[in-house]
Amino acid sequence: MNFCLTDEQKELQTRARAFARQKIPPHIAEMDRTNGYPWPLIKELAQEGFMGITIPKEFGGAGRPLIDAILVVEEIAKVCGTIARVVVDSNTAVPKAIAEYGNAAQRQKFLPTIVGGDKPVIAITEPEAGSAATWLKTSATIDGDHVVLNGKKCWITGAGSSRLYLVFARFDNVAGAGGIGAVLVTADTKGLKVARIPMMMGLRGMPEGEVDFVNCRVPKSQILVMPGDGFRKLMRCYNLQRVGAATVALGIGQGAFDLAAAYANKRKQFGQSIGSFQGVRWMFADMHMRLESARLLVYRAATTNADGFPDKMAAATAKVCASEAAIAVTNAALQVHGAAGYSCDLPLERMVRDARMFTIGGGTAEMQRNLIGSEVLARASTELQDVA
Ligand SMILES: Cc1cc2nc3c(=O)[nH]c(=O)nc-3n(C[C@H](O)[C@H](O)[C@H](O)COP(=O)(O)OP(=O)(O)OC[C@H]3O[C@@H](n4cnc5c(N)ncnc54)[C@H](O)[C@@H]3O)c2cc1C
Repeated sequence: MNFCLTDEQKELQTRARAFARQKIPPHIAEMDRTNGYPWPLIKELAQEGFMGITIPKEFGGAGRPLIDAILVVEEIAKVCGTIARVVVDSNTAVPKAIAEYGNAAQRQKFLPTIVGGDKPVIAITEPEAGSAATWLKTSATIDGDHVVLNGKKCWITGAGSSRLYLVFARFDNVAGAGGIGAVLVTADTKGLKVARIPMMMGLRGMPEGEVDFVNCRVPKSQILVMPGDGFRKLMRCYNLQRVGAATVALGIGQGAFDLAAAYANKRKQFGQSIGSFQGVRWMFADMHMRLESARLLVYRAATTNADGFPDKMAAATAKVCASEAAIAVTNAALQVHGAAGYSCDLPLERMVRDARMFTIGGGTAEMQRNLIGSEVLARASTELQDVA
């Protein structure tokens, strides 16, 4: 396995780092205080080309591999998890599903808008179907040239600010995963209503909300994936999002680590820098090992995808490791800062709040462990059969 970056990748990484350090900080306090979506900053992200890194060139994107988007996300997340999530959503599940499974008209209509700054929304979760996503109830009924959606989605990232929704729905009341397909719905469609959640614990600046569909009539031509093997196809695309979420967590952790390292070298107690105390050094050793393990898993998950789709085990493993590393590292970095870390003058408390999300959203750590556990045991049983 070779993780050496090409010159092009190094250039992209440097550009993302400069953008993150120069353009994002002036917006952070306002986003955290008001939870307002920073439209001017999103426009700048799009102008830099960061919204369409993986989107094919013919639709205005850069047509680069997932790992290139991951490098950008990591740099941006060191400064701001919220903006890093915007880059993830614009480069992973929804555009991948449109590029891969959409017809020519859908690709032409929707992919350039994402490149231009319209972060898409993925709407799966419902009040009674969180981890049990295949139990979702939102119904899709074909009526002439339209598909009619009815149901409620919750905890939807970007609800109220985004203009494009990929809605998972149950067709013709067929139970289980086999009944699930997906429809592209624009925010201005009659029958789509959003109730924004005023404030979440962290990752503020990108609103979460509930989305109600009441006899929401969408042209049939906007069905992206039909049921049958539709859910399997959608989850293949969702694995890109999981690798992206793992990268945001990793970047937040690394950002907190960098602040703590600078502080530990500067802050003196008992006449010496606190970084010279063994107790503090061991904290840094643990933080470093957690971040390095997470980074290796994230990069591996993003690169072992010859067909453009990360392996589901690699994605789940990276997500659990990076999300748990982010929680541990941001807390340790806050601890290194003492009282200053607990104040709102420094970004550590925000980083702790932001990091906390990633063992929940996009599939909880427990559900990822279910997947990893069943997969490793299945592999082990096949290997034992081979040996016998
Ligand atoms: C900030 C944020 C943004 C989100 N954005 C989106 C979005 O854009 N689109 C979207 O569709 N969804 C989104 N979600 C929803 C997210 O995907 C769900 O919250 C997640 O899948 C868990 O569902 P739940 O919250 O209903 O928890 P539940 O499924 O009710 O789980 C509660 C607890 O029980 C555990 N549990 C449940 N079942 C099992 C099991 N079989 N084995 C072991 N443990 C289990 C869980 O791990 C968890 O600890 C977002 C969530 C958050 C917090």
